[in-house]
Amino acid sequence: LQNLIEIFAQFLEPKQIIAEQSEIAQYLREWRDRYFGQTPIMLLPNTTQEVQKIIQTANEYGFKITTQGGNTGLVGGQIPQGEVLVCLKNMNQIIETRPEDDCMIVEAGAILENVQNIAKENGRYFPLSLASQGSATIGGLVSTNAGGVHVRKYGMMRALIMGLEVVLPNGEIYQELSPLRKDNTGYDLKQFFIGAEGTLGIITKACLKLVAQPKHIQVCMVGFTDEQAMIKALHFIEANCNFLSAFEMINQQALEFGLKNLIGVKNPLDKIYPYLGLLEFSSNAQNPDAIIEQILGDLLEDNIIYDAVISNSISQVNQFWNLRENMSAAQKPEGRAAKHDISIPISKIPQFMNNAELAAQEIVNGARIAAFGHISDGNIHYDVARPQNMEDDDFQEFVPIINNKIHDIVCALGGSISAEHGIGIGRAKEFQAREPITHLNLMKTIKQSFDKNNILNPRIYFN
Ligand SMILES: Cc1cc2nc3c(=O)[nH]c(=O)nc-3n(C[C@H](O)[C@H](O)[C@H](O)COP(=O)(O)OP(=O)(O)OC[C@H]3O[C@@H](n4cnc5c(N)ncnc54)[C@H](O)[C@@H]3O)c2cc1C
Repeated sequence: LQNLIEIFAQFLEPKQIIAEQSEIAQYLREWRDRYFGQTPIMLLPNTTQEVQKIIQTANEYGFKITTQGGNTGLVGGQIPQGEVLVCLKNMNQIIETRPEDDCMIVEAGAILENVQNIAKENGRYFPLSLASQGSATIGGLVSTNAGGVHVRKYGMMRALIMGLEVVLPNGEIYQELSPLRKDNTGYDLKQFFIGAEGTLGIITKACLKLVAQPKHIQVCMVGFTDEQAMIKALHFIEANCNFLSAFEMINQQALEFGLKNLIGVKNPLDKIYPYLGLLEFSSNAQNPDAIIEQILGDLLEDNIIYDAVISNSISQVNQFWNLRENMSAAQKPEGRAAKHDISIPISKIPQFMNNAELAAQEIVNGARIAAFGHISDGNIHYDVARPQNMEDDDFQEFVPIINNKIHDIVCALGGSISAEHGIGIGRAKEFQAREPITHLNLMKTIKQSFDKNNILNPRIYFN
């Protein structure tokens, strides 16, 4: 340890080198207590050149690195298992906002919510939005190709990246930060780093795509009795207006956890339906409310929805979103759960929900299925919580069996076992078991050609 401190002290200030375990502890624990780690030392670089020096030093002395942003990742990729921890949280500056080019250049440690606010102050909108936006950093969001609630309209993080600066595992710097919308000069190299979970380089800056600021945002809560109705509603709404910006779903069990465990949360509808839908409309049209009311009226008349409430103030918009965004927190007091971040073709959602529930109940009778998420992307957070009267430790032995079965069902329906959270360390074994060998070999070839000493995030994908 003393040697490491001496090495880093050659180019970092003492306050950038944290060796005191009590200070590091919070960075070694994932907030749901699903992943814990260890590290001899944590480094807090302030500049790209310092990141470069750290990587050069790692190559020289043969130590491994795990990179961390806001520590909100849900698959443990940011939690070191003995590697040196490099945390980008000090590199959080908004370098430049260019409204005319519809872009913004930021450091990788910039917090998403700050980016959204600065875009707004400049009359623009950065549409990536997720419940962790108060802590998640741009570097982490790029590295996990984060999704969130606006994917159907605006795309995942990949669609919002115009350029990147990355320190490569060999210590060189890749930099392409210009806001070009078209550039076909050879491979689009930035794509390698988006969604690579920090395995191919440390992202230090990003050029983000901004869009027009919507003038009216309206949120409606609606009741559905089944999945088929949600799919019909989605297509009906999109056929009748072009400003649906989010369509989220909460099933009855997830709502009941929310009503029980979240402070100050109320059911927005008079009754509890099998599914609660959250519809967000973002528009610059003159009178969007009339269009929204007409659409909801038609859906009610056709018995596709059974009740609807439209937000009447900004605080109600926030209240509705608050319920949806706190679904993970609402589950925590209910104990152990087998959690899944799956996606399937939208047409297969009813079949998935049916097959998955039957399978889960067959494995653990009385398991409680809390499902919620981005239904308009076919992306469901499908959580199987332990029966009320079972101990966490007793349920734990069923977790891998449930995971395996749910993922079998997903794969049989042509879906993905990781829609938006990535593989990290938590899904590595299942990923290796299920991914075609050709894909795995291609990924190993790419990793080897970028990082021949395997120094960056070495436990992700292939631990
Ligand atoms: C309440 C809650 C809700 C969430 N909702 C969503 C959601 O709707 N959609 C969604 O996609 N995700 C969601 N997430 C997951 C999480 O917020 C994202 O994975 C986010 O992108 C991680 O950002 P971070 O800065 O916290 O990264 P970290 O957790 O610190 O790291 C995540 C991964 O990125 C790597 N990494 C971090 N910074 C860099 C960098 N500068 N260069 C290279 N690699 C780096 C890490 O090594 C790790 O592999 C949610 C999380 C929480 C806690």
